[in-house]
Amino acid sequence: MRTILHFIDGTTTSLTSERTHEVFDPALGLATKEVLLANNADADAAVDAATRAFAAWRDMSWANRQQILFRFRELLNARKPELAAIITEEHGKVLSDALGEVTRGQEVVEFALGAPHLTKGEHSEQVSTGVDVFSLRQPLGPVAIISPFNFPAMVPMWFFPLALATGNTVVLKPSEKDPSAAIWIAELLHEAGLPSGVFNVLQGDKVAVDALLEHPGIRAVSFVGSTPIARYVYEKATAAGKRVQSLGGAKNHMLVLPDADLDLAADAAINAGFGSAGERCMAISALVVVEPVADELVAKIETRMSTLKTGDGRRSCDMGPLITREHRDKVASYIDIALADGADVVVDGRNVTPDGDINGFWLGPTLIDRVPTTSRVYKDEIFGPVLSVIRVPSYEAGVALINSSEFGNGTAIFTNDGGAARRFQREVEVGMIGINVPIPVPVATFSFGGDKASIFGDLKAHGSDGIRFYTKTKAVTQRWLDPSHGGINLGFPQND
Ligand code: NAD
Repeated sequence: MRTILHFIDGTTTSLTSERTHEVFDPALGLATKEVLLANNADADAAVDAATRAFAAWRDMSWANRQQILFRFRELLNARKPELAAIITEEHGKVLSDALGEVTRGQEVVEFALGAPHLTKGEHSEQVSTGVDVFSLRQPLGPVAIISPFNFPAMVPMWFFPLALATGNTVVLKPSEKDPSAAIWIAELLHEAGLPSGVFNVLQGDKVAVDALLEHPGIRAVSFVGSTPIARYVYEKATAAGKRVQSLGGAKNHMLVLPDADLDLAADAAINAGFGSAGERCMAISALVVVEPVADELVAKIETRMSTLKTGDGRRSCDMGPLITREHRDKVASYIDIALADGADVVVDGRNVTPDGDINGFWLGPTLIDRVPTTSRVYKDEIFGPVLSVIRVPSYEAGVALINSSEFGNGTAIFTNDGGAARRFQREVEVGMIGINVPIPVPVATFSFGGDKASIFGDLKAHGSDGIRFYTKTKAVTQRWLDPSHGGINLGFPQND
């Protein structure tokens, strides 16, 4: 079995820890590789490499740094099918979806190419007689990026292009479930000319995460994962004095008003509910339908579901397997909970016939109607292909339900009523809102992040928040002296 190594100081290496974790091909249900799991000394080695590389990278001219990132963008664009194949092999999502993930990540690289403009400071002339004030943005130092399994390329790419473009060095700790994408990216960055030590990949689990969170050499932490771990990371890293952005879990609602085009709403619910087997933080998992159109909408969704093909992502399927056997079993257990709680299981994904190996971690698209809002099926983040329908009497009841959720990552409204949509965007307590757009992932020029238990920290991913996160400001007050500035005055400086 092949062992996936770390990437430290410009080269793949095994470092010292011999602990490993099995890496599965979820469509085969088979452990095909193993990945090393770092210990504290390995984390030290990664941070040391990032620390040694920092000064030269920080001091490299904008022009030279941008040329490296530009070459990386060109290589990535040309070779992204390779990366997509790696993602499908370890995550299971279908190839077209994996390619889409890489393309969305590439957007952030393209945005980061504008960093010299985006980091420009401010300048005020003559704030006092002969005195000018200006501000600078400078990099922080070595930063840690800790990413989840569900977007092994895109989530790291939400962060490292901006971290690198603004002059920081990086230690990326990818998910141990699909660690190869990070290594492929590291090698491509070096092919593009990135100096050794500027971008490092430390493989590992909680041990590696804790070591990075506590390491005095790490200045900032960008984390994405489930809410309990996101909260933990935020608390631990801020207590250690670090700057932290920590994105957590989600339970995204799609509100359908009676005036909506129900065919388009049904298509959108399917795409957003079952794409990537529901393992997206922006997946729709709760369909909130304002009566009297729920029967009609549920029927349209059920009809469409009969055409969906679940199977090996390398074949022409709509939806792949779940990430692990345990996760598949956990997601499937919610179907029993739904039945026990009195909901109607309209389509039971456990009956699926996959186009793939019998041992794959399969669960077909599942539709559950009349889910009580007290049920764990409604409340928990299931993170699988399970779409719940909740019927509400009015727009107000729908918004009240969404706002009562613990999470606030994404939401969507389907309507042809502009006034209702405008009211929704003002009233709903969610960070990313789609108006007739079911998966409203903002483009790279805007920032990605939710609200409430879906994010900890003040600054979101990419967009202007990303630039601010990875830079610190300095304000310089400057005067060029002449004899008129002489004299002793112990009073507090005032402008004149
Ligand atoms: P996870 O929380 O299990 O793992 C995320 C990272 O934390 C991984 O690198 C993992 O190795 C590490 N980790 C796991 N347990 C840890 C522990 N006890 N202590 C320290 N580190 C630990 O998440 P996942 O299952 O890989 O990913 C799915 C979750 O991520 C879902 O909840 C999903 O909503 C969320 N997610 C959120 C966003 C967002 O933008 N808000 C985006 C993608 C995924």
